[in-house]
Amino acid sequence: MHRGQVSSPAGVDPETWREQIRHQARQDKIRVITRRDGTRAFAALNPSVADKRAGELMQRALARGLELQRLAQTARELGHKPIGWLRSDDEYVSVCSSCGARIYARVGAKTVDDGEALTDPCP
Ligand SMILES: [Zn+2]
Repeated sequence: MHRGQVSSPAGVDPETWREQIRHQARQDKIRVITRRDGTRAFAALNPSVADKRAGELMQRALARGLELQRLAQTARELGHKPIGWLRSDDEYVSVCSSCGARIYARVGAKTVDDGEALTDPCP
C-alpha cells in the first residue's frame, strides 16, 4: 500500500465504498483517484492535494467503512445475512436476505443506527 492510499475494509462493498469516498471528496472539493481491484477498492489522493485535508478525508472514509462493517457484523452475529448497503446521502440501509430485517445507519459526526436486524435474531 502506497503512502496516501487507503483500501476498502474487508466485507464492505467496494463500489459503495468508492462512492462514499468520491462523494466526500466532492464535498471537500478535493480530488481523489479511486480504483477497483477484485473485491477491494483503493483510493489515493490527487498528488497536488495538501496532505492534511487528504489525511482527514481518508480517515473519515475509513471510519465510515468500518462503522458499516461493524453494523453488518452485529447483524450476522444474530444470524442475519445482510446484503450490501444502499445509500441515500448520509443514510445507509441494508436488509437481511433471508428474513428481510433491516439495518439503518446515518453516518456523520456521530453515527446513528437502528433496525431490527441489530436487535432481533434471524428467525
Ligand atoms: Zn434475518
